[in-house]
Amino acid sequence: VSVSDLSYDLVVVGAGPGGYVAAIRASQLGLKTAVIERGELGGVCLNIGCIPSKALIHSASLFREGRAALEAAGARVDLSGFDYGKVWQLSRKAADRLSKGVGFLLKKNAVDVLKGEARLDGARSVDVAGVGRIEAKAIILATGSRPKVVPGFEFDEKTVLSSTGFLLSQDLPKRLIVLGAGAIGMETAFVMNAFGVEVRVVELMDRVLPLEDAESAAIVAKEFSRRGIAVAAGTRALRLERMPEGGVRLVTVSPGGSEEAMEADRLLVAVGRSPNTQNLGLEELGIRLERGFVPVGDWQESQVSGIYAIGDIVATPLLAHVASKEGEIAAERVAQLLRGAPEPREKGVDPLLVPNAVYCEPELASFGLQEARAQAEGIAHGVARFPYRGVGKAVATERRDGQAKIVFDPESHAILGATVVGAGATELVHELLLASRAELRLEDLADMIHAHPTLSELVMESARAGLGRAIHI
Ligand SMILES: Cc1cc2nc3c(=O)[nH]c(=O)nc-3n(C[C@H](O)[C@H](O)[C@H](O)COP(=O)(O)OP(=O)(O)OC[C@H]3O[C@@H](n4cnc5c(N)ncnc54)[C@H](O)[C@@H]3O)c2cc1C
Repeated sequence: VSVSDLSYDLVVVGAGPGGYVAAIRASQLGLKTAVIERGELGGVCLNIGCIPSKALIHSASLFREGRAALEAAGARVDLSGFDYGKVWQLSRKAADRLSKGVGFLLKKNAVDVLKGEARLDGARSVDVAGVGRIEAKAIILATGSRPKVVPGFEFDEKTVLSSTGFLLSQDLPKRLIVLGAGAIGMETAFVMNAFGVEVRVVELMDRVLPLEDAESAAIVAKEFSRRGIAVAAGTRALRLERMPEGGVRLVTVSPGGSEEAMEADRLLVAVGRSPNTQNLGLEELGIRLERGFVPVGDWQESQVSGIYAIGDIVATPLLAHVASKEGEIAAERVAQLLRGAPEPREKGVDPLLVPNAVYCEPELASFGLQEARAQAEGIAHGVARFPYRGVGKAVATERRDGQAKIVFDPESHAILGATVVGAGATELVHELLLASRAELRLEDLADMIHAHPTLSELVMESARAGLGRAIHI
């Protein structure tokens, strides 16, 4: 579509997992909807985030395990001809396929896609570069985020990389330093180590995955160390020297205060994301940003009535599934106001019911109340744990490391939170999350028959452990 003076019920700015889901939901509810995208459909998630990174993780995992299994069976593995460029191409193929899929879904749902850079020029009007001015009864902003730039560590995307530069690199460095041990840093470190790159991780906080349960994160750290990934925690990156012959030299300060220098061919800076809220015309409309994020009230509505904000530009967790859920809520609210559709079931995302997932090996996934917070805030709680090595399927498939940990209410046995670390954790956590959301108790999980042998027996046994009746330990 490329006509000036178009008019819609709803205009969505940005076609990432927030924006495209909002647009499809709105159209399902009968709203005449357009989505405006300056880049690729699917946003960061499909093109330079979740999807290509998981494709690389999958290849890394197969590469490592396949080799180990063949060697364990006495086979000699000849790696000559190995070409990371081919692995990389698979990740691009997955991204392209899904991005095209979003185009197909938008078309199927009669959502108009307008290509170009958008800027609000009124509370009901959007200017799209190269297209023209579009009138809308409501606007959903879903412009997402970009890698955070640290002064002195600016990206050149050749030696100093953002996650985007990393995901678009077609070859392997010999040595890589990863700055930041959050999800993106840990996933990248895992992938590169699996392909034989010498990896060092530098983290300012005193441990990897600082937002996750400490005991569970320590299980990941131990496995990283076993695989030869050096982790310097509690370490500050002081300055970066870019070597004239290529490569970098990073000077750090250790917890003890001593300076140390490390060298590598490339540096990945993965220390956070910045919301894309500049040059959108928000301030002119009276939207006051908080640390760059758009403050929202119920149903994701901003300070200006009729303008909604979702996904990475809102100060809820910067995750694709949060963006999509917020998109659905905002779209349903607009349909309620304009078409009399039912009120959305939720007014916003409940942070205690958001799953967090880290896809390195071992995987880690969590939600809800953590033990440390329960202790700090004096919340009555019990903790149950069950190890993978007590689960037949885990032993049979050589996935013995890890555990499930449940934080529960000692009176009602309600499930308040959980962290699973180990194989399949990012899938397994959802049974615990459903139980928590449905207000089930430990007894319900413990008594439900789980197929044997499956990793899901871990969930059943951890619930049993909380009741003092685990069988296989
Ligand atoms: C390496 C990496 C791995 C990740 N892995 C995961 C994961 O495994 N699981 C997970 O849940 N999350 C993951 N994330 C986070 C996830 O990608 C984001 O939370 C998600 O993409 C946010 O969705 P969004 O719709 O808010 O914005 P985005 O996906 O950022 O999309 C915003 C879109 O808006 C467009 N846009 C911006 N400004 C304008 C404008 N003015 N006009 C027109 N268009 C505009 C952009 O081009 C973009 O396409 C990962 C992120 C990275 C970087």
